[in-house]
Amino acid sequence: MHKNICIIGGGISGLTALYYLRKKGLKATLFEVSSQIGGVIQTKNIDNFIIEKGPNTMLLSDQRTLDMIKDLELSIENASPYSNKRYIVKNRKCLSLPISIFNFITTSLFSFPTKFKILIEVFKRNKKSSNEESISQFFIRRFGKEFLDYAINPFIAGTYAGDPDILSIKYAFPKLYELESKYGSVIGGLVKEKKDINKIKRQTISFNGGINTFTQKLAKRYKESIFTKSQVKDISKHKDGYTITLKQNNELKTLNYDKVICTIPAYSLKKITVNGRSFKDFTTLNKINYPSIISISLGYNSESIPHNLSGFGVLVPKCENMNILGILFSSSLFKNRAPKGKSLLTIFMGGSRHPEHCKLSKEERYSLVYKDLEKLLGIKSKPIFNYETIWEKSIPQYHLGYGHYNKILGIIELKLPGFYFAGNFVNGISIQDTILNSMNLINEKF
Ligand SMILES: Cc1cc2nc3c(=O)[nH]c(=O)nc-3n(C[C@H](O)[C@H](O)[C@H](O)COP(=O)(O)OP(=O)(O)OC[C@H]3O[C@@H](n4cnc5c(N)ncnc54)[C@H](O)[C@@H]3O)c2cc1C
Repeated sequence: MHKNICIIGGGISGLTALYYLRKKGLKATLFEVSSQIGGVIQTKNIDNFIIEKGPNTMLLSDQRTLDMIKDLELSIENASPYSNKRYIVKNRKCLSLPISIFNFITTSLFSFPTKFKILIEVFKRNKKSSNEESISQFFIRRFGKEFLDYAINPFIAGTYAGDPDILSIKYAFPKLYELESKYGSVIGGLVKEKKDINKIKRQTISFNGGINTFTQKLAKRYKESIFTKSQVKDISKHKDGYTITLKQNNELKTLNYDKVICTIPAYSLKKITVNGRSFKDFTTLNKINYPSIISISLGYNSESIPHNLSGFGVLVPKCENMNILGILFSSSLFKNRAPKGKSLLTIFMGGSRHPEHCKLSKEERYSLVYKDLEKLLGIKSKPIFNYETIWEKSIPQYHLGYGHYNKILGIIELKLPGFYFAGNFVNGISIQDTILNSMNLINEKF
């Protein structure tokens, strides 16, 4: 019988673990080092602009995530119907990504040979390389270089802030990898694959007041089990479970638990000792790469933006040699994100493509942003509002060879029975991935 469980980390992974443990009637306590709950999910309301410092949207495509949201009595805010329209930059112009057969035939985003390659992918049985493939190698082999450059490369910058040349298709997009392995084709596999009973129609969502309404609701529901400003410093194994050493208000405390769920980023593990000593396996996980990324929120008088901002936003392929990675049309996506007559844009910079941008002064960085905004959206005037967040370490990169880290996670769980990992470096980086990952862990092990 598991009596008392310690959860380390108060991001969505830790909060979800707490939610499912409590649903099972188990006793659990969550410790978060910072003064606030939510991890990278952080919303701010400044001068009636609703700013997302980290994630802006959540993709909802699984019934179990929807059930959790409903159980928390959260009201979902669906992205505007225009959000289907996503722009990709080609020759410094914003072209919409095709969403219908007609769009696909008429778009100038892809040349005729690329369109032909996409259409015949279903019949293509080319041989996989025996080495682990990067995302770039996989897509060049199946759909050609232009598809990689103008669909996949910008998409990877917008999700992973990463580089498709070194991200592993097997670990970063296991679903696509499996579809090809099982059906010989990605498109054929998507058509033939039996529908997962948990899958629901994909929706891009947030919540009234911003995305952190979700984590705040979880924090409120379980407030008696959550402790902020509590840094886990040591985990010591003994025959009945674990003793956790915590730093709370400059005081060290020790507490006993039966099991431990660790949801902190891989780079934070090296600061935790095991049985009072530095733990080599934790230090190895510190090598997982987390590129820096800058999220810049800019508010404008709506009339000073010539573009109609009808859509999700713009993604910039690497081969276009621009400064920014992409723009979200935040106030078009969701209601009440900007005061009346104003518009809010969220711009992403840096990532694996431009790590140097984090080191620039704010002025230098903004001047690069303004240049790109003028080219892409015709904006000549300066914003009336700005706010930026620099994430020195943003999103874990499932690079080639990531299987090595997965093995280490398994070895640690063997060395420390009753100690489990969850979090975005385990089974996917999106908010929904981390929710399902924590949910599966609780269902399987508790
Ligand atoms: C800029 C950015 C934009 C993103 N955009 C999207 C998006 O639009 N859609 C989407 O689905 N996903 C997005 N993601 C990814 C997604 O938000 C994250 O993968 C997910 O929220 C991670 O949650 P987590 O709980 O695993 O980790 P985290 O949120 O990192 O939480 C881990 C927590 O552990 C705490 N901690 C660390 N060390 C200790 C310790 N020793 N003791 C106690 N606590 C500790 C940390 O303070 C932190 O609060 C984005 C991520 C970033 C950074």
